[in-house]
Amino acid sequence: MNNHPKFADIILPLPLAGVFTYSIPGELQTELAIGKRVVVPLGSKKMYTGIVQSLHSNAPDDYQTKDILSCLDHFPIINHIQLKFWDWISQYYQAVLGDVYKAAVPSGLKLESQTKITLNEAFMAEKALSKSEDQILDILGNSKDVSIASLNQATGLKNTLPQIKSLLEKGAVFVEEQISSNYKEKKQEYVCLHSDFSEEQIGDILDGLKRAKKQQELLYSYLNLSKHYFEDIPEKVSSNDLLQASNCSRAILKSLVEKNILKFYFEKLDRLDLSETPLRGLKQLNQHQEKAIHEIRENFEEQNCVLLHGVTSSGKTEIYIHLIEEQIKQGNQVLYLLPEIALTTQIINRLKSVFGNKVGVYHSKFNDAERVEIYNNVLENKSDKAYQVILGVRSSVFLPFSKLGLIIVDEEHENTYKQFDPSPRYHARDAALYLANLHGAKTLLGTATPAVESYYNAQTGKYGLVELFKRHQEIEMPEIIVADIKEARRKKMMKSIFSPELMAHMTESLENKEQIILFQNRRGYAPYLECKSCGWVPHCPNCSVSLTYHRHNNLLVCHYCGHGMAPPNNCDHCRSTGMEDRGFGTEKIEEELLSYFPEARVGRMDLDTTRKKNAYEKLIYKFEKQELDILVGTQMVSKGLDFDHVGLVGILNADSMLNYPDFRAYERSFQMMAQVSGRAGRKKKRGKVLIQTYTPDHEIIKNVVKNDYFEMYSSQLSERKEYIYPPFYRLINISLKHKNQRLVNEAANYLAQSLRKIFGIRVFGPQSPVINRIQNSFIVNILLKIEKKSSPAKAKWILNQQANFLKEIEKFKSIQIHFDVDPM
Ligand code: ADP
Ligand code: ZN
Ligand code: ZN
Repeated sequence: MNNHPKFADIILPLPLAGVFTYSIPGELQTELAIGKRVVVPLGSKKMYTGIVQSLHSNAPDDYQTKDILSCLDHFPIINHIQLKFWDWISQYYQAVLGDVYKAAVPSGLKLESQTKITLNEAFMAEKALSKSEDQILDILGNSKDVSIASLNQATGLKNTLPQIKSLLEKGAVFVEEQISSNYKEKKQEYVCLHSDFSEEQIGDILDGLKRAKKQQELLYSYLNLSKHYFEDIPEKVSSNDLLQASNCSRAILKSLVEKNILKFYFEKLDRLDLSETPLRGLKQLNQHQEKAIHEIRENFEEQNCVLLHGVTSSGKTEIYIHLIEEQIKQGNQVLYLLPEIALTTQIINRLKSVFGNKVGVYHSKFNDAERVEIYNNVLENKSDKAYQVILGVRSSVFLPFSKLGLIIVDEEHENTYKQFDPSPRYHARDAALYLANLHGAKTLLGTATPAVESYYNAQTGKYGLVELFKRHQEIEMPEIIVADIKEARRKKMMKSIFSPELMAHMTESLENKEQIILFQNRRGYAPYLECKSCGWVPHCPNCSVSLTYHRHNNLLVCHYCGHGMAPPNNCDHCRSTGMEDRGFGTEKIEEELLSYFPEARVGRMDLDTTRKKNAYEKLIYKFEKQELDILVGTQMVSKGLDFDHVGLVGILNADSMLNYPDFRAYERSFQMMAQVSGRAGRKKKRGKVLIQTYTPDHEIIKNVVKNDYFEMYSSQLSERKEYIYPPFYRLINISLKHKNQRLVNEAANYLAQSLRKIFGIRVFGPQSPVINRIQNSFIVNILLKIEKKSSPAKAKWILNQQANFLKEIEKFKSIQIHFDVDPM
């Protein structure tokens, strides 16, 4: 008789359910442990990699358990803190554990039967492979992209996952996502300097190439691309990029290699660069920063969370770096959260110059293999190669930290911290606070424009508050000029989309060789087309939105479902040929700039120009190096980027932000304008900001001009109180979706009614959102507002119950319902 548990509860990556009970076969009894991955069957054909959540001996009474097929790990890959964290996410955000698992673990670690496997052609076995491993490689050698399910069939083995896992570890095969992105990269050829030349030697070499102009050009290009004069750690330069940038032939490159000036290398198997890097050390804090860091430390003695409210360019990042240093010395891990991938590229250089290879980055622009590697690196956290500091976006809260000492949430006010789709719909800032608690760690929220909720928490003593109102070197805050577009239009003085004031200031800045940032929160060329005769506007056939015109590919595109079509020559209603574009997006601004300032070098940063992996880096780099005069962009340019030579920032249309139908619209507009203004005048000189608006007397515009966060905060806070919103109330949005509009309305009315019986006047709606149809599904929302002090857990329990009741009604069975807790 043994005392081993007979059953295990397994978390499966499935959307509708979370945890299933399986029986543990004899041979696995000693091997299983909480947090390890196992392979389990589901239904008659499918197989999944699941996570052991618990071990016990209670047979479920409503179904016959199946056996676990195999265990994939020697050591748990999910630690007990993570499991607690998952539980909290699942409960607080009303998500099933399966969804949390899917979001938390990179796909390479959770093979499924549909996962495709490919052979690594370059693989050479060091040790003999097992018979079944050989068999699998044979099959893969003969055909491409074989799914695990077909491998099971072809080999006649019931389950090939253990073999695949072992082949993966040996580097013999790739998983789906790795094939597309990583496989190519592994074969990527790079170029670097042949050895460590000193600065003078490079000068000599360049001189020596005077008669070989092309070679000299190529070497200059290399020095530029690798940021040789700019960064201590050279950037990786691929041969392709170099040849393209220098416009030289491969023969020229080869001759430099033959002269032992440059050399080729190939992307290392170890994809993460852990090379030793020269470190620059900490910058000395100025007196204001000293005072702030002192206060932060003091606050941390009593508080778990501190809000650092510091104006743009006050040196918050420097303060973070000092705090990280302390944690590293104590052997702790640090998580540094940023709202946007674009930002990681600037901060990573600053962190690497101090902490070298102790810093790792984690975000979705990495391919899965890279993410798996970072995941494992954090998991092991022992070797000297371990990342003690992780710089990452939202999803990095799911990394397997074991010893966090500090979490920094930079630009904490940003709503990109909130995941919207798919579930779990978590807020990374709020989740970070819980995660820090689990580790006994501290959390530092930093921003120049705190979220109203956070500032309220600081004022009411829930968080510590530290404020820093001086920019580094006491540079003045920018001068803010408001341009009244209504007036300019009345006087017929609007040159297309630029007001006379903006034109004048742009001209001046260009003459003074100062850079310009123009901000417009709309990508594409024009938000919509319109018939001049009858006013007809082309809409997406699948969604209730107008189609945005993109000129570069001459397409009308839906920004909600991606549907694209050629712009019509004739109006659909009156057949007239006068279709005109209305409004303007970043693409049109770029075009107009080129026509007014043909000499200016213009770059554009928006979703359309930054899809490729290194596109952000390239744009930011070019702007930093003053290879661009004007940068046009969406909110991407507003978030915490630090440029030295920006003299002028233009906000092209403040009104579209202010008029957005949302209770946070004023707060967001303030934050957006204050943040983008903060990009102006960071080094030595006072910068200028020009805001174009139809409503120059708007209270928020006035707050921005005066740089008065408190006034904005106070007026917003009283509105929030009056209209029953956070921070005084907790919101839960209940969203119903279905292809049939009548049915979804009926269901929403039914649900709202039953909720009203319980929650009374706390129920609002049902209401159609502004965009009430996306991808052919109609959406109706019900909003629940509950008092902060009442138990959210109970309310959520009731919501689930009521949603289940609804789904039990035959005709409503196919209605999709989801909850969004603390919607943004
Ligand atoms: P914030 O994060 O508050 O916007 P940053 O940390 O980016 O501000 O600082 C703005 C600029 O000033 C950066 O270029 C930074 O390197 C520089 N800076 C800030 N504090 C110091 C310091 N103590 N010593 C040297 N440079 C500093
Ligand atoms: Zn018409
Ligand atoms: Zn659409």
